[in-house]
Amino acid sequence: MIAFGPVPSRRLGYSLGINHIPAKHCSYSCVYCQVGRTNKMEIERKEFYPIDQVICDVEKKVLECSQVGKGIDYLTLVPDGEPTLDINLGNIIKSLKQFQIPIAVISNASLINRLDVQEELLQADWVSLKVDAIDEQIWRMIDRPHRALSLANILNGILEFRQKFCGKLVSETMLADGLNDNEKAASQLCEFLLNLHPFKSYLSIPTRPPAETRITAPSPDALQKFLKICAEQIPFLDLLFETEVGDFVSTGNFAEDVLSITAVHPLREQALKEMVINTGNKWEIVEDLLASGKISCVSYRNEKFFLHNFRNNQKEQ
Ligand code: SF4
Repeated sequence: MIAFGPVPSRRLGYSLGINHIPAKHCSYSCVYCQVGRTNKMEIERKEFYPIDQVICDVEKKVLECSQVGKGIDYLTLVPDGEPTLDINLGNIIKSLKQFQIPIAVISNASLINRLDVQEELLQADWVSLKVDAIDEQIWRMIDRPHRALSLANILNGILEFRQKFCGKLVSETMLADGLNDNEKAASQLCEFLLNLHPFKSYLSIPTRPPAETRITAPSPDALQKFLKICAEQIPFLDLLFETEVGDFVSTGNFAEDVLSITAVHPLREQALKEMVINTGNKWEIVEDLLASGKISCVSYRNEKFFLHNFRNNQKEQ
């Protein structure tokens, strides 16, 4: 299943997710990644799925949503890896325009200094680029990039793209305890963001199970100091710290929807319970998925999360 959702997103309203890269081809292996460690670290662009397959899957979901009267605010390319690794990205975006729904891409920005990647992203309506650190050493510790990548090239590429892009450009920074949450990192980030001046700069903290269990959100004290520095300088700063509330919509096959959503978006217990209620389904479906090993439940900082079991689901394919 390539298309999933729609998923409520604070930034994008109702977003129909497009998972056009299988887990987990990425140019980074971020310590906080909610999809787990990267086992296919790469920077070469290639085809993952034929374009027709991606578009067909999206078309099916768009139709299902329209049949249940559910509007979609964005078609969002947010795969289990880095979307710009897909050599078909530009043609996928072009083909998606037929649905006349705004198109968003959530990228780690690692290939943004490439002109072909810039050209393809220029066709989207909303682009999010990751800026976790301005310091090379911190960037290597938190994002664990492919060894051939250079942070200076990426930051230059982001600034270059900003000059050309007519849509909404946002930046995203994930803060992790002891890594990029100090005052120096805050000042460096502010300097870069003031130069970039995106539509919004989002700050977030790990709230879902990270790839490395030692990773936690900054201490309240560190967070407060960091926010004070940013808030004083950056008017376009926005926080994504709050817990998202359920209101997920099932478009027909509830078990399939849970599997496709959890593949890229671990679900909090509360969100999943609300999804069950809102769609008139039964919690037993979730229990069956747990019993069959298709999803699993983990506790993280006193909350339960439901995750997709990639290994068990792959065995069946
Ligand atoms: S958070 Fe994004 S960029 Fe980082 S490893 Fe996970 S998929 Fe890749």
